[in-house]
Amino acid sequence: QANEKESMYLVSEYANKFFQKRMHETDEGQAIGLSYFKERGFTPETIKKFDLGYSPDDWEVFTKAALDDGYQLNYLEKTGLTIVKENKKFDRFKGRVMFPIHSMSGRVLGFGGRILSNTKKAAKYLNSPESDIYHKSKVLYGIYYAKQAIAKEDNCYLVEGYTDVIQFHQSGIENTVSSSGTALTPEQIRLINRLTKNITVLFDGDAAGTRASLRGIDLILEQGMNVKVCPFPEGEDPDSFARANSENELREYLQENSHDFITYKASLLMDESKSDPVKKAGLIRDMVNSISKIPDNIQREVYLQECSRIMDISEDVLYATLAQIENKDS
Ligand code: ATP
Ligand code: MN
Ligand code: MN
Ligand code: MN
Repeated sequence: QANEKESMYLVSEYANKFFQKRMHETDEGQAIGLSYFKERGFTPETIKKFDLGYSPDDWEVFTKAALDDGYQLNYLEKTGLTIVKENKKFDRFKGRVMFPIHSMSGRVLGFGGRILSNTKKAAKYLNSPESDIYHKSKVLYGIYYAKQAIAKEDNCYLVEGYTDVIQFHQSGIENTVSSSGTALTPEQIRLINRLTKNITVLFDGDAAGTRASLRGIDLILEQGMNVKVCPFPEGEDPDSFARANSENELREYLQENSHDFITYKASLLMDESKSDPVKKAGLIRDMVNSISKIPDNIQREVYLQECSRIMDISEDVLYATLAQIENKDS
């Protein structure tokens, strides 16, 4: 079993080198892969640092090379790099730019691969499947490059995607990681919790982004961490915003638009419910439910008082609702 995992790590590292070589050292790779990353504003240093690469637009060029170099099909299949169907072998990531996903200690666990044009019908991002070395729920994209900065800054920026992480690092904000499309899990939060008690969740300026992010946040509160949120303007995400602004402007934006999560959620819910009493009742329960996740009694009480003020509802009612929720949970 240990040997098996080791073999999977080795084949992943081989693939990592292969995709980089193909991007930097072939005409196709330079014309398609490298120029894609350059057009997105990534510098050569950034491209190297994150081991970005390109998987050729061919059905089995990677698989063939790996087999020729002595790697076993078994491990190519187990890592999902090769798909075997009816005795035929296919490269999983054909014709995509490649984002290797590193563990906390820097080993390559899997890949995300992006299509080059948004018009193709294929999924925009394709990821390695779950495997003995790649457990999606336990990995954060960028953690290997971010861990020191997270501890030093005593704060972690959590963004939605690969390119958000990369663009932030390039802009000098290195305490940034991403759950990369999967819903945030307790294990991912625990990784951050070991480095800092403070998380700032940055979300894309689209309705989907806001809703999805707000849901995952209760899990962060449960671990006793302090949560801030920072929304981005309509149509922007951290990547596009960082690219369009200087480092100072970006830092200023983060400073001015990071709000305490509970306060932010309360105001947001108030805006949503307006004067609809039925809706408001449901949203208050939602709000108190978030507060009930906070382990610290005093902190919980402070938030209840604040919500009472923001949502214009008596503290007594909020305490009663909290008691109700706590009884149901136990
Ligand atoms: P880009 O700027 O390259 O278009 P993005 O990171 O802004 O990418 P989003 O649509 O905001 O893309 O999605 C956020 C993250 O969700 C992506 O980085 C990726 O990890 C994941 N994701 C997005 N679309 C898909 C998909 N079709 N299949 C799997 N994962 C996806
Ligand atoms: Mn998004
Ligand atoms: Mn995005
Ligand atoms: Mn984007």
